[in-house]
Amino acid sequence: MTTSTLRYALVSALVTLGLIVGTASSGSAATSPTLTAKKTKAAVVFGSGLKAASTEQPCQSGSAACASSKPQLSLAWSSAASTAGCRFRLDVDWGDGKAVQSVKLSGSEQAKVWTVTHNYAGNVAARRAYAIGATATVLADPQARGCSIESAGLTFTLMCTPTQLVSTAWGAKFPGGDSDISHLNDTFRPGVEKFVAAMTKAGITVSPQSTLRSPQRSYLMHYSYKVAKKQITPAQVPAYTPVAGEKAPKVCWVFRSTTGALDNTTAVRAASTLLSSMGVDPSLKTPPALRSRHNTGDAIDMRTTWTASTIKIKTADGKTVTISSGPKDGTNARLMAVGASYGVNHFAPAAVDRNHWSSDGR
Ligand SMILES: [Zn+2]
Repeated sequence: MTTSTLRYALVSALVTLGLIVGTASSGSAATSPTLTAKKTKAAVVFGSGLKAASTEQPCQSGSAACASSKPQLSLAWSSAASTAGCRFRLDVDWGDGKAVQSVKLSGSEQAKVWTVTHNYAGNVAARRAYAIGATATVLADPQARGCSIESAGLTFTLMCTPTQLVSTAWGAKFPGGDSDISHLNDTFRPGVEKFVAAMTKAGITVSPQSTLRSPQRSYLMHYSYKVAKKQITPAQVPAYTPVAGEKAPKVCWVFRSTTGALDNTTAVRAASTLLSSMGVDPSLKTPPALRSRHNTGDAIDMRTTWTASTIKIKTADGKTVTISSGPKDGTNARLMAVGASYGVNHFAPAAVDRNHWSSDGR
């Protein structure tokens, strides 16, 4: 004899749970003035029977707007009148693929609140919406008092914690991207040092921006660029795939409002802030590579500019090259040819990544 009425309510905040448990376990719930005492039958309804505090999420109305960043969720059932002798069973499918949880409830002489609690996984991948179904059954009604209990269905959205969400802290956690030429690998570095020396001698101002970069930082740069430029949605960002022994950035790209609704505006803003905090050239026309020559110390981003109308610069084999045409920066074709003589090859097409030089131009 399961009631067909579905009434939605949810106690998601542990603070609230604390209140309820405190009331229920004290054994004197009948005296509690907070229980609504409309029904006099032995009816168990879904919901704590407590009036929602004003700061609480509107989980009492079944509006499918129940959301929390806490992975422990409690559902409550309550009776305002005596349910003595009644016996109930709840079969709760928490929606996370785990086995259905069966819980037996025994009636009580006094008004009572029963809670059923579940722990969801707390990792970033588990931060999503769950469809919960609780089927309620009356097992026994020996005193023929009309025992009844409500089934329930609702959606609970487990949100990311502030620590998991995209912020500039993630860039700091996975450093690299410093401008130190000595961090380049032993094969590439000597050519860079000689090329930089030749440029400096020719009157070119060289300022290295980024050399060795961890693959985790490349991942953060690549996807914060794509999200910031709205090339993909935050939900489309895949998890980092670590190779053996690597530490994965367990970062959450999906932002939600307090009701659990997607908040892509905030997500795009956060990705954009992370991107600039990692020193990515704002004129970059392509996402920083997911796996790049920077990861192996085979690339350097450096700004190169000059003001003289003509400069003379030496190639690796000692020839002098005169440059009197523009542009007066690293995208100059003649300067790129000089760089190539040192084994320092500019990215092509040059305008797409203006400051990137590597062992093979990639
Ligand atoms: Zn680069």
